[in-house]
Amino acid sequence: MKIAGGELIYDRVARGSNEVAANLARRLNKETRGEVLFSAADRSRYATDASIYQVMPTGVFLPRSAEDVQLALAICRDLKVPIVARGAGTSQCGQTVGAGLVIDFSKHMRSLLSLDLQEGSVTVEPGMVLDHLNAQLKAHGLWFPVDVSTGAQATLGGMAGNNSCGSRSIAYGNMVHNVEGARAWLSDGSLLNFARMGDPNTSPEALALGEWVRTLSVELQDDIRSHWPKVLRRVAGYNLDLFEPQSVRPYTTDASVNLAHLLVGSEGTLALTRSIDLRLSELPAHKVLGVVNFPSFYKAMDSAQHIVALAGDGSLTAVELVDRTMIELALQNPAFAPTIKTALIGQPQAILLVEFAGADKSALQSNLKRLDALMGDLGLPNAVVPMADAAMQRNLWEVRKAGLNIMMSLRGDGKPVSFIEDCAVPLEHLAEYTDALSEVFARHGTRGTWYAHASVGTLHVRPILDMRRDGALKMRAIAEEASALVRRFKGAYSGEHGDGLCRGEWVRWQFGPRIDEAFVQIKQRMDPAQMLCPQRIVNPPKMDDTSLMRFNAKYRVIALEPALDWQGWNVQNDARTEQITAAGSGQDPAMGLAKAIEMCNNNGTCRKFDAGTMCPSYRITRDEQHVTRGRANTLRMALSGQLEDASQAGLLHPQVQAAMDLCVSCKGCKRECPTGVDMARMKIEVLHARQKQLGLSLRQRLISRLPDYARWASRFAPLMNLRNRSPLLARAMERLLGIAASRSLPVWSSQHFFNQAQGTVDRQSVLHAARGVVLFVDTFNGYFESAVAHSAVRVLKAAGYTVHVAARDEGQGHHLCCGRTYLSSGEVDRAREKAQELITHLAPFAQAGLAIVGLEPSCLFTLRDEALSMGLGAAAEVVASKAVLLEEFLAAQAKAGQLEGLRAQLQPQTQTLLVHAHCHQKAFGAVTPISEVLGLIPQSKVVHIESSCCGMAGSFGYESEHLSASQQMAELSLLPTIRQHPDAILVADGTSCRHQIKDGSNRRALHVAQVLDGLLR
Ligand SMILES: Cc1cc2nc3c(=O)[nH]c(=O)nc-3n(C[C@H](O)[C@H](O)[C@H](O)COP(=O)(O)OP(=O)(O)OC[C@H]3O[C@@H](n4cnc5c(N)ncnc54)[C@H](O)[C@@H]3O)c2cc1C
Ligand code: SF4
Ligand code: SF4
Repeated sequence: MKIAGGELIYDRVARGSNEVAANLARRLNKETRGEVLFSAADRSRYATDASIYQVMPTGVFLPRSAEDVQLALAICRDLKVPIVARGAGTSQCGQTVGAGLVIDFSKHMRSLLSLDLQEGSVTVEPGMVLDHLNAQLKAHGLWFPVDVSTGAQATLGGMAGNNSCGSRSIAYGNMVHNVEGARAWLSDGSLLNFARMGDPNTSPEALALGEWVRTLSVELQDDIRSHWPKVLRRVAGYNLDLFEPQSVRPYTTDASVNLAHLLVGSEGTLALTRSIDLRLSELPAHKVLGVVNFPSFYKAMDSAQHIVALAGDGSLTAVELVDRTMIELALQNPAFAPTIKTALIGQPQAILLVEFAGADKSALQSNLKRLDALMGDLGLPNAVVPMADAAMQRNLWEVRKAGLNIMMSLRGDGKPVSFIEDCAVPLEHLAEYTDALSEVFARHGTRGTWYAHASVGTLHVRPILDMRRDGALKMRAIAEEASALVRRFKGAYSGEHGDGLCRGEWVRWQFGPRIDEAFVQIKQRMDPAQMLCPQRIVNPPKMDDTSLMRFNAKYRVIALEPALDWQGWNVQNDARTEQITAAGSGQDPAMGLAKAIEMCNNNGTCRKFDAGTMCPSYRITRDEQHVTRGRANTLRMALSGQLEDASQAGLLHPQVQAAMDLCVSCKGCKRECPTGVDMARMKIEVLHARQKQLGLSLRQRLISRLPDYARWASRFAPLMNLRNRSPLLARAMERLLGIAASRSLPVWSSQHFFNQAQGTVDRQSVLHAARGVVLFVDTFNGYFESAVAHSAVRVLKAAGYTVHVAARDEGQGHHLCCGRTYLSSGEVDRAREKAQELITHLAPFAQAGLAIVGLEPSCLFTLRDEALSMGLGAAAEVVASKAVLLEEFLAAQAKAGQLEGLRAQLQPQTQTLLVHAHCHQKAFGAVTPISEVLGLIPQSKVVHIESSCCGMAGSFGYESEHLSASQQMAELSLLPTIRQHPDAILVADGTSCRHQIKDGSNRRALHVAQVLDGLLR
């Protein structure tokens, strides 16, 4: 049965969109306190999730309160606009993509409402992120155990919507097993309490609904018993088996019926959640991990059933697969290689991560021994790597959790596509199923990488398909064959990631027409107006309807010539071998830039707050516009002419400029985005396009040309420094130039490094020295903080090196520049000239094998990063290969046993050395050398601040319009941590970081060079 009106929802909303949207926006603005986002760019940022689909919503609404949701619901009812509920938008099947008003609960509705430690339960708002909840529970020895891989982003409302499942579901179950209640609005506006039947808190309307569903399920008892997959991992359709659960694990522990379970997995189609009650679990006191190494994939799959049967004491919490391809990818990734190596014996074709957890450590150790014995019985003696160490376990789980993202970094139009990746089959058929599905892939000219939840028969696999060409056709064909296999093995077609746009049409296939009809009736009864996520679960579109896809037949990239070289992304790949074609052969009209942007698959990892750097502007705003994903989506839409006002298409579109505004070019995404989206580099393109058309402002000129005028400006130092002493002048500069009056500016000095005695040698001498090194002193350390450069020379000399300072032509004041400030304003041509000059000077040293040692991270790393994409040829490569920061150089020398002399000269330091690493040090994995070098100091205690960008970011923090954002970034963790350590010595290698620390805490931070120099005997 089709629901009247439902089948036309996309067309209807699209037809009426302008008038409806205008009314909707006007009323939401007037009647609610929520944020109302209706620009094309805003809508496009909500048109996608981590699926292959894209549908432009009418508008986006961010409610600040429950009242806002209630009002929005009423307005949408009046105007007949459907609603798509959304959390972090990390769904893989297109659940959060749809026409109508997208309501994003994640920004404002994310509080913990109540915590009952006695009962071990918690009530949260739907926008609360899983890891944020668990961070609050940790102190109480509790956690919410549905540990999805996206825990740092996924909201509990979204997890409930999808009936999400974690790696440890064998021990803890899925969301449905852990949700105890929900308050939710039906589309008629009524707010109902869904709880246990018999619980007096259950709303009478909910109870009546429950009784009605009971009748329905009794009528369908035979169908339910015969059609319902008998596996833990079944998330398709509605939980109509509520009264007689068919899952191998009952939904409740006491055989009661909880009406909230009707909403779990309903993907926003039945009600909008206002709050959710969750049952908590005790954090296990101990965990041990056994990594089983297998000589064949088949053997791993066949062994899973025996491993799962191993521990009868309930301590088995996970059996997770990592296959050979993923092992190889992890081995190639510098961040993961050391960890994965700890788990391997030889060259296994697959490994299974077998975890036992519980209170009794010795019982867990015995289980590990039993695992070892079992593998011996199965013909694999000595195949288990035991891991008792918590840190080693944690690192290995990180690699496993990053599995999908590691895979998604494949360049070219062929991508691993999610559509059959969570079919669940009974364990005894796992080996046969994976074998047969691999054959299906091969027949369709592709292959898949297998990983994840072997314990519950849900293995993730994504065949590589090219969705711009024949991908949709192949997708359908593979889905048909995969579904036949699932049926043969009595499994569940949708076992983890939900139905959405991708699997909705398989609901009827899975459950049969009568149960499907019952689902339609449930939808009709709870949402008669078809307002909530229409065309999901019931009455869905075809999974291969390309008009709903991000890359469909109409997708065209506009031609443009980027300023930097992006041809490495302009490639294609072979779906069978994953080999990529030559750089530049990918037929991208934007010469690789568009394909680099399209690497963003919307997985949402950039919406994180915990560790790392990415993405400081999101951390302070929580806006989709100001996160890497939102920026990539804005750029993609602009470069494919999908934003309104086509005359402004491309990089010059005002919405692109707006999305880039708070990007501080920290390069956090370059390292931490799983697919390597490098937004800092993309921002250079945006700035370049802008300055080419509009020229530069006076402020931009003053900042970018600093290296050009620094030499003569330093001669007028007293005059130049007047601004810092005169509030009047500061205010005038703010008005005229937009440089924040409340900021101090770097202090000029007529005596600077470049015109003082350096105690260094000329180029010939260093080339002939036994231990020569070339010091690249940048504009900032050279002119404003000469002490740093002098310290570096002294330290290098104390370590026994002959030092030459890179200079244009040897003589005072002719310093060289990497071009960084020009890149910051988009003046790529000038930056190229500067970098060319520097590289020409440095190349002979690099070719002679000398290290090029730098002090300022943003300048030094320009040589290892942007300079390689400016067409500067082989000389740039050789210089990049020798360019290192001082501490990288010293750390490497220390490892080679070359620094014993320096170590002997260092006096002890007992004060804590509190380190803030520059973002670019983090982006290039150059943080550990700081600890290693400071570790040369006797008795040193080094503590790293877990901080994102300091917020100064070159000129960003000086700009009056960005002052507040800059300070907020510093206040996220950097400044609070500094205040907690009043006696520590502060260490920061970035000149901007030191300035921000001084402005924000009135404390002086030192460069590593200064710390070492100050301790030389
Ligand atoms: C790299 C990657 C790894 C993943 N790993 C896992 C995994 O290990 N296990 C797993 O189960 N899933 C996984 N997923 C899928 C996804 O991350 C999870 O389903 C996650 O729980 C979704 O959370 P979210 O906040 O992003 O929800 P969203 O995607 O925003 O929404 C999910 C559903 O909930 C509905 N919804 C949201 N808020 C409400 C509300 N207030 N009221 C009613 N309905 C609402 C939405 O309409 C939608 O149907 C993964 C996805 C990616 C990209
Ligand atoms: S930018 Fe990177 S981390 Fe963010 S959603 Fe896109 S791919 Fe994921
Ligand atoms: S460069 Fe930094 S601020 Fe910009 S998008 Fe990447 S992580 Fe965010």
